Amino acid sequence: MRSPLLTCLPVLLIVCSWIGCSGGASKNTAFAVLEVANKSGLKQASLTPAQEQAKRFGLDDSLQLTVESGKVKKGQSLSHILSPVGVSAQQLHQIATKQKETYDVRRMKEGHDWSLFFTKDGAPKHFAYTINAKEYVVFDLTGGGQTRRGHFPSETRRGYVEGAVQSSLYQVLEDQGHSTTLALAMAQLYAWTIDFSRIQAGDRFRILYDRDWVNGKAAGMPRIMAAEFVHRGRNYPAYLFDQGEGPDHFDDTGASLKKAFLKAPVEFSRISSKFNKKRFHPVLKKVKAHLGTDYAAPHGTPIVAVGDGVVTKASYTKGNGKYVKVRHNSTYTTQYLHMSRRNVKQGQAVRQGDVIGYVGSTGLATGPHVCFRFWKNGQQVDHLREEFPPSTPIRDAQKGDFDHAVARWIEAMARLDVNTELQLAAQTP
Ligand SMILES: [Zn+2]
Repeated sequence: MRSPLLTCLPVLLIVCSWIGCSGGASKNTAFAVLEVANKSGLKQASLTPAQEQAKRFGLDDSLQLTVESGKVKKGQSLSHILSPVGVSAQQLHQIATKQKETYDVRRMKEGHDWSLFFTKDGAPKHFAYTINAKEYVVFDLTGGGQTRRGHFPSETRRGYVEGAVQSSLYQVLEDQGHSTTLALAMAQLYAWTIDFSRIQAGDRFRILYDRDWVNGKAAGMPRIMAAEFVHRGRNYPAYLFDQGEGPDHFDDTGASLKKAFLKAPVEFSRISSKFNKKRFHPVLKKVKAHLGTDYAAPHGTPIVAVGDGVVTKASYTKGNGKYVKVRHNSTYTTQYLHMSRRNVKQGQAVRQGDVIGYVGSTGLATGPHVCFRFWKNGQQVDHLREEFPPSTPIRDAQKGDFDHAVARWIEAMARLDVNTELQLAAQTP
C-alpha cells in the first residue's frame, strides 16, 4: 500500500480493503486512499543506513558518518547517552544551558528515538532526537555548533472513507484499520451538531481528508476537507472553507458547524440515564428527579468543558463526589459530577474542549459515568432539548467562493464514490 510506485503517479486510487456489512439494508463499507500531492519524487538508489538517517535529519554526509540508534530509556537523560561515548561534561552543559532556547533537553521523553552520528574516526559528531512524528532536534557535539530544530520530509496524502455505522463510528473506522485520530477528528468536527453517544445503526458517513505522512507513517491529526454524516435520516454535511479567519467547517447553507456548546462532555460515551423529573434512583431506591444527563464511559476518560467559561466550583460532596462547575455566561452554567479526578481549580478560566477532569464513580454512583447538569437562567434544563444558534456563518461577500468550493468538494467525493464502486465491482467474485 505504501509502495514507492505511488510517488511516480500524480493520482492513483487504491482500494485497501472492503468490508461487507452484515446488517440488512446498510450499504457496503468501502475504504479507499487517494494519493495526491507528493513533494519528494522517486526514491534514490541504495543509501547506506547512516546516509539514510543523515538525510532524514538534514545532515551533510560528506564526512561519511556512521550511526548508532536507540530509544530513550526510563530515567535516561542526554548525559546518560552521551557521556559513555566521550562527549565532555562542558559540552553537555553547553547544550543544556546555552542552547536551551532551541530545545530544553529536560523535555526528552522515554521511548523517543535518537540517532548518534560519528565521524569516520569514531568521534561523536551529532546527536539527533525525535521530538514527535513530525519534528526533530539535532545537537552539535563538536563544540561551538548550534542546536537545530527541523521537520522531517513529509508528504500530504488524501484519503477517502465511507461506510455505515453498526455500533459506533470509532468501531467502524477501527475495523477498517484507520487510526483512532480519524474518529477523533470526526467527533471534534461534529461536536456541536451530532452527539456521538446517540449514534444508531444505519447512520452513514463519507469523509474526505488530508493527512501528513512522515517516513511511511501517518503523523498528526487528519484534516477533514469534506464530510457527510447521515444521522437519524438527516444529512449533516461539512465543508472546509477559509473566509479569512482561518479554515473552518460549514454546512451546505454556509452555517458554521460550531455552536455555543459541545453536545456532550465526553467523547464516545453512552447516555445511561436521561434528564427525568421522576426517576427511580438506583442507589437511593426511591423516586428522585434526575436533573442531569448521565454519560457512561470508562474510568479515567477525559471530561471536557462544553463551552468557554470560568470554574466556579471544583469541590466534593457526598452525593456529587468530586465535581466541577463552570459558569459560561450570565445565562448558562454546567456541572460535571462523580469524577475520579479534577483537573481544574476554582476561579480558573477554561476554553471549550479543555479537560476539566476524568470519569469516575465518586459520590452516589453505581459505575463510572459523568452526570452532566445544565443550568439556564438558574433553572436546571435538559440540554438535549435546547437549541443553540450557529456561530459566524459565511458572509455574503464570500458566498460565491464558498458555493464554488462546496461544488468542488461534492464533485471530488462523487468521483471517489464512483471509482471505489468500480474497483469493488472488479473484485467481487
Ligand atoms: Zn446523573
